[in-house]
This record gives sequence, structure tokens and C-alpha cells, in this order.
Amino acid sequence: MSKLSIAYIFQNQQLLVDHDFQLPQVGKLKDDLILSADFEVIARDLKQNESIPSGYQLVPIRQLLQVWNKQQFEQASRAVQLLEWRRNHQFCGRCGEKTKQILDQFSMKCPSCGYSQYPRVNPCVITIITRGDDEILLAKNTRHKKMYSLIAGFVEVGETLEEAVRRETKEEVNIEIKNIQYLASQPWPFPSNLMIAFRAEYHSGEIKLEEKEISDAQFFKFDALPELPFKGSIAYEMIMHILHGNRVADETKEWL
Ligand SMILES: [Zn+2]
Repeated sequence: MSKLSIAYIFQNQQLLVDHDFQLPQVGKLKDDLILSADFEVIARDLKQNESIPSGYQLVPIRQLLQVWNKQQFEQASRAVQLLEWRRNHQFCGRCGEKTKQILDQFSMKCPSCGYSQYPRVNPCVITIITRGDDEILLAKNTRHKKMYSLIAGFVEVGETLEEAVRRETKEEVNIEIKNIQYLASQPWPFPSNLMIAFRAEYHSGEIKLEEKEISDAQFFKFDALPELPFKGSIAYEMIMHILHGNRVADETKEWL
């Protein structure tokens, strides 16, 4: 039997953990994705007819965000994103041939034309907009019943991060902003984003909603906020930063 490794075993966006939310140790299989140089951390999907070992359960990774520390979550996040990348690049995007996985550099390489496909992150800007000393702009996505969050969206080809911040704000709520400042970043595995956080100040304009995406948006007083995003999300940390001066995505602190 091969040496045991710590395993991230996923089914969709759920991860196999024991009742204390710890990862299993299993023997390595042929097509497991190796996450560490010493082969001690691996990742794979739960096989179709593989049963869940007794004492273990499948838990959505969003839920683990609330019981794990930042480092544990980021490693799980990396595992789920690499598996997603491998699943989506089984064929060459240039010539259609079946690709081969190059183990030591996370590349899916085409044996026929030589084209290599690497994991990709999607940059996504997220902005907290203040007005005066005691108001922040929060918007409710049409997908959510009660929760309000920040203005966010993907960076487009040829655009700077600051241009993306201005454009998304203009598109979603139709206002102009000023003093855009970088705050922090966070990898976000749903499915493979890099969230890049900014703060900005309201400059001018009336709120007008992009109704396909946003069902409500208002400047809320600090002491009268609606339901907020969950702890561990960068949006939550950004709001706490504005309210209480907490650092955002601080490397040295655990989230809880
Ligand atoms: Zn090819």
C-alpha cells in the first residue's frame, strides 16, 4: 500500500471531512492531483461508485469557511480550483486532441500540437463606496432575498482595475465615484476568481438600478445596516474595515 496523504476529496462544491471537519488520509490513486512537492497533499473528485467512509460527511466548502482558518480555507480553495481547471481542459482548445496532465507544473498539454493550458484566475473587482462619514452603499442582487452586498464584477479585457471599478459602479447603480484606493485581495473558488477589493467615495449622480442584476441599492447609515454577507467573505471584512477600522484579509490573523 502506498503512503497515506492528506486528501481533498470533492463532490461538486462539497468536501469530504470527518465530524470535526478534518480531512481524511488516504492512499494515492493514479489520477490524483498532487498539491505539494512531497506528495503529501492530494486532491480528487469522489468516484462515482465510491462510498463515503463511516465517520465522514460531505460539507459545502462555503460552510467550511466559517469553521476553518484562512490558511485551511485557501488550500481547499486551491484544490477545488485546480480540479475544476483539470476537468475543463481535458481536450486541447486549439486542435481538439485529448490532453495529458503534466504533473509538476499544473499544465494540461496537448500531445499533438504542443499547446499547454494552465489554470486561470478571473480577476473580479469589489468596491465599498462611502458617502460622508457614516454611510455605505449596499446593493441587493436579484438572486438574494434579504442579503445586501457590495458592487462587484469581472474585469474586462483591456481594462485597468480602477476602470473596472468605475464601470461596474456606473452600470449597476449609475453613480460616479472618486478616490479609488486598493484594500486587499482574496482567492475565491466559486468557481475560480481573484477578488480585488477597493474603497471609493461617492462623487455625484442619483442611484439608478441595473434591474436585471440589482433589485435594490441604497446608502445605509452605519447604525442601520441590512443583512450583510457572511463572515469570512471579503465583502464582510471590507464592511468591518469601514465600520471599525479592521484590516482586510490580514495574513497574520485567523478569520474567526
Ligand atoms: Zn492541440
